[in-house]
Amino acid sequence: MKQTFSFYGLPGLNAALKKFQFSWKSVVFMALAGAVTLFVTLAHRPAYAAYDVQIRPAGPSQGDTVAIVTTEPPGATSIPTVRINDVTYPTFAIGEGRYRTFLPTSPLHASGEYIIKVEGPKGLRNPMVWLSDRSFRTQYINLPPGQSDLGTDYEFDRVDAFKQIQSPEKFWNGPFRRPSQGRVSSEYGVRRYYNGVFANDYYHRGVDYAAPVGTPVVAPAAGRIALVGRVSQGFELHGNTIGLDHGQGVKSIFIHLNSISVNEGDFVQAGQVIGTIGNTGASTGPHLHWGLYVNDVAVDPEPWRNGTIE
Ligand SMILES: [Zn+2]
Repeated sequence: MKQTFSFYGLPGLNAALKKFQFSWKSVVFMALAGAVTLFVTLAHRPAYAAYDVQIRPAGPSQGDTVAIVTTEPPGATSIPTVRINDVTYPTFAIGEGRYRTFLPTSPLHASGEYIIKVEGPKGLRNPMVWLSDRSFRTQYINLPPGQSDLGTDYEFDRVDAFKQIQSPEKFWNGPFRRPSQGRVSSEYGVRRYYNGVFANDYYHRGVDYAAPVGTPVVAPAAGRIALVGRVSQGFELHGNTIGLDHGQGVKSIFIHLNSISVNEGDFVQAGQVIGTIGNTGASTGPHLHWGLYVNDVAVDPEPWRNGTIE
């Protein structure tokens, strides 16, 4: 059986092409040959797209911690570089040939597309993630002038240094626990108007638990005590403070404490008592403020509590 190819609407070309006639056999042969060539080419092309990249959660919203997990092909041994919107993020080994990068987000992170570039000796992957808007509760606060000047350079410097810690080890294991049995008196992410003006840079960078002074505070996950600060040293805004390093850029801070029962350098287990609830620093009643930081961003602890993050 013969088949003539014609190109409708191109009379001149059509006439020329009439000379070329193909048997079905030759067409099938060429198609097969083409497919084999393509397969061989793909199988032997240099490690392009050789990293497997998984993004969790697939549909994050503001406050979520986005985990970018890279699995390298067999034989690769070097940690990939991960850039997000052209900023390089810390990447840590989490197993044989597996690496994780956290993209911490907050109410201050613009919703929209975040371009991820995973690059290393085995090629480049270029996935994107879409961050959705989330609505946060709003508070209206009236302050007398001068009230916002509280806090010493000493405490800000020490807390800033704590937030920069990037320990390569992963100390936590499994879901984070509640650090206090007190009721949640203020949730993560609350936005504020001060004297009628929206505070663009403010959001509640943690969760507040209200309970009587002296009620125990426990470590939500294992880690190393990396900061102990006291009112007597100049922690006038934070009050008595503990900073706990969970490793791989993840850190907890506990402020307004009454007593502190750990020292810097101590290693603590999940559930271990580290201090008690107080009303120290800029606090209007006994409560614990627990802030969970990933890199230097205060993220929503909830996904860490429900076991979404490995
Ligand atoms: Zn708070």
